[in-house]
Amino acid sequence: MSHLTIKKVCLECSDEFIAKSSKGTYCSKKCFKRNYRKLLKQNSVVIPKNKPIITKENLNSKHYLSVKEAVIVFDISEVTLRRLIKVNKLNYICLKNRFIFLKSDLEKIINHLLLK
Ligand SMILES: [Zn+2]
Repeated sequence: MSHLTIKKVCLECSDEFIAKSSKGTYCSKKCFKRNYRKLLKQNSVVIPKNKPIITKENLNSKHYLSVKEAVIVFDISEVTLRRLIKVNKLNYICLKNRFIFLKSDLEKIINHLLLK
């Protein structure tokens, strides 16, 4: 048996597979992508249509925020936020035509602005 052979169980489909490195946790790229999408879904900001009121409290636990949510959480204007995106101070993911930010990134930038 080669010392490079590492038997692992795929986190996504629970199949056994041979990992090329000790870091591999999925049997295939397909499983990796599927799991990634799942994670993205869990963290994504889906605002139910029948629940238009978003409060700071129910956004607190989220890791990712949309523009509209960030405006509520950080009490800044949408214009300011969009300007930050434009000048590339903010990393974002574009998901279904919406900008999604990592909350911690946003926090850093806003704290920086407030200290000025
Ligand atoms: Zn798999």
